[in-house]
Amino acid sequence: MTGRIPTLVDLGDVRGKRVLVRTDFNVPMEAGVITDDFRIRAALPTITWLTGRGAGVITASHLGRPKGAPDRKFSMDAVRERLATLAPGVELLENLRFDPGEEANDSKFVAALVKDIDMYVDDAFGACHRAHASIVGPPKTLPSAMGLLLQKEVDVLLGLRNDPKRPFVAVLGGSKISDKLGVVEALLAVVDSLVIGGAMCFTFLAALGYPIGDSLFEPDQVDTCKRLLAESAAVGKTIHLPEDLVGLDAGGRFATFGVRLPDGAKGFDVGPGTAAAFSDVIMDARTVFWNGPMGMFEDERFEAGTRTVAQAMADTKAFTVVGGGDSAAALAQFGLADDVDHVSTGGGAALELIELGDLPGLAALRGACNAPRF
Ligand code: ADP
Ligand code: MG
Repeated sequence: MTGRIPTLVDLGDVRGKRVLVRTDFNVPMEAGVITDDFRIRAALPTITWLTGRGAGVITASHLGRPKGAPDRKFSMDAVRERLATLAPGVELLENLRFDPGEEANDSKFVAALVKDIDMYVDDAFGACHRAHASIVGPPKTLPSAMGLLLQKEVDVLLGLRNDPKRPFVAVLGGSKISDKLGVVEALLAVVDSLVIGGAMCFTFLAALGYPIGDSLFEPDQVDTCKRLLAESAAVGKTIHLPEDLVGLDAGGRFATFGVRLPDGAKGFDVGPGTAAAFSDVIMDARTVFWNGPMGMFEDERFEAGTRTVAQAMADTKAFTVVGGGDSAAALAQFGLADDVDHVSTGGGAALELIELGDLPGLAALRGACNAPRF
């Protein structure tokens, strides 16, 4: 039998206890220097909640994708230095992924992690969709809890899934098409309409029979898109797709197109008419979830669609939630990060939580010995 997800108060008295806090310190780095310490600062409320009550805190995180062995490029040294200035006296273990046991969820690695540890706190939402050792291992033996950051994510995202104010619109874009099609299916069950831009839109446009030139698309997903379009029509839910596009023509020149791309052309952004239409849908909604940029916004020529959608997210009266690393980066680039209600710290995890209503990391916490029973 499992209970509710335990929160920090469910740990009981933490004074004098050694608490392992799984954080998401997977910060962006350039040449060994942290370019944005948002993820370190985001962990501070949980850390100070614990240290303020007399606990000793040992943090642990992964950083980048080392191949299960120590690799100086991915050492936690810079993070440890920054953490020492923000939360003096708090320890940080070396990159969890330096040990192959982390991703393999090896029980020997879990045992090493929890040695001399009294309690476990998970505050790493961005890693909760992975059944890795540091996420699902410690709650098997230790009193455990979700940290404040994780709790906020769960409240907001499960709120979207279970009880959204309507109309509820999901805006999807970006380039991880097959990753995100599963969530389209799940979202169709809960949203009132879907807005699709980014590289994602070309597989849908191809499914409708439009020529898409040399744009990014996944041929083996065309049938899935056809089915999703049919299913949405059957239940009376609209999938809004672009009506104009911006990109490069076969000669590599910047061009605006209708919804049919000529041979050799590549679509890199939604067009101005589409951006305005998408913006209207967002303005009329009462709940909006946005994941994935509308175009290749890193290139100035193709940022307009994403900027218009970001501005609508900022302006609408709807409850607004943004998930996805690149979507959050786009919002920040436009100076609008503070104008939405919630920016999720996990892209894949946010999508999976909305899709499935649960994550391996949350299930592990519910199974902990101190989880409150219903
Ligand atoms: P997120 O991190 O928000 O979940 P993704 O990682 O799925 O988003 O996708 C982000 C990437 O998608 C960006 O780097 C952006 O340049 C790219 N992208 C968006 N639209 C297009 C397009 N039409 N063609 C190529 N790349 C695109
Ligand atoms: Mg991304």
